[in-house]
This record gives sequence, structure tokens and C-alpha cells, in this order.
Amino acid sequence: MSENGCVFCKIASGEEESEIVYEEEGVMAFHSIGGKAPVHVLVIPREHVSSLEEIGELPEGVTKRIFEVAQEVAEKMDVARSGYVFRINNGPDAGQEVFHLHVHVMGGERMEM
Ligand code: AMP
Repeated sequence: MSENGCVFCKIASGEEESEIVYEEEGVMAFHSIGGKAPVHVLVIPREHVSSLEEIGELPEGVTKRIFEVAQEVAEKMDVARSGYVFRINNGPDAGQEVFHLHVHVMGGERMEM
């Protein structure tokens, strides 16, 4: 299900443009705008869940695929050997700005926590 006004739901449906890195039925990956590292890709479930608290609502297998796709993106973007950060900002204190669950895959330079 998509959520009204959610920018990542619009990206998932193609209503909003994005620079797609990878897509399949339940998961997609696209470049973050205003990337905070030379490689900064976001991996999302196509179905809307706002945070980790709702992860149980995702279709069977999608959570596992998010992590597998994030690793495949690191390979594709050529940072798997040099190293990269997987990051989920979950909730306001973590700085979450877009309330559609997403994994940041960041690398291409030395990453600070
Ligand atoms: P977060 O703080 O974890 O919610 O991160 C939100 C991320 O989404 C940031 O990296 C933003 O740059 C990125 N972002 C927001 N809107 C878009 C968009 N339309 N296309 C691509 N990335 C976006």
C-alpha cells in the first residue's frame, strides 16, 4: 500500500523521478539527492512502512531482500571492497526525515559514524 504524500511511495510507483540503481518487485534502490558521500544510495521496500516498528507488515521475504539488495548495490557501486556504511535513521532522534523505511548505503571515502 502506498501512503498519500510520501515521496518514496511516489518514487516506488514512478510518479516521482529518481536515479534508479536497481529495482525488483518488492524492493528498489536509487541515488539519494544531495548525497552525503561519493556513493549514497537508498534502498527501500516498495510497500510503505514508516519505520522499523512496522517491518512485520512487509510482504514475506522483503526485509531480507532489502539487506541483500543493499549489499548488491555496494558491489555494483564498487565500494564492497573499500567498505561502506549501512544506516537506518529510525525516528526523530535519529534524524529520520523521510518516514518511509530506507537503508542508506554510503561509501567511496572514509566514513565517520
Ligand atoms: P533520512 O534522514 O534517513 O530520513 O534520510 C532521507 C534521505 O532521503 C536523505 O538522504 C535525502 O537526501 C533523501 N531524499 C529525500 N527526498 C529524496 C528524493 N526525492 N530523491 C532521492 N532522495 C531523496
